[in-house]
Amino acid sequence: MADTPKRIPFYAIRLADLLDRPDMALVAECWRCGHAARLDPVALAAARGENESLRWLEPKLRCKACGSRAALFRIEYADEAEQGTKKPPARQPGGS
Ligand SMILES: [Zn+2]
Repeated sequence: MADTPKRIPFYAIRLADLLDRPDMALVAECWRCGHAARLDPVALAAARGENESLRWLEPKLRCKACGSRAALFRIEYADEAEQGTKKPPARQPGGS
């Protein structure tokens, strides 16, 4: 089995892709003041259309904290945010 790459280039992602991936969280982070906010792909898709790609949405971002447009998208995995839910290791059927 080949390892699937964990990271997807965000510029290749459309909002529609995020709607299909509840395990991925879209975060906008301002590199000027460090303010970060999690965005709702559903609301974005409703406002912009779900075929809009992140590379086009990014220049339209505006930081709510400092008003800067120097904000960038970041994709996080929901798994990393919820570290409390660890899956138990798969059990090997033990034959005797
Ligand atoms: Zn800011």
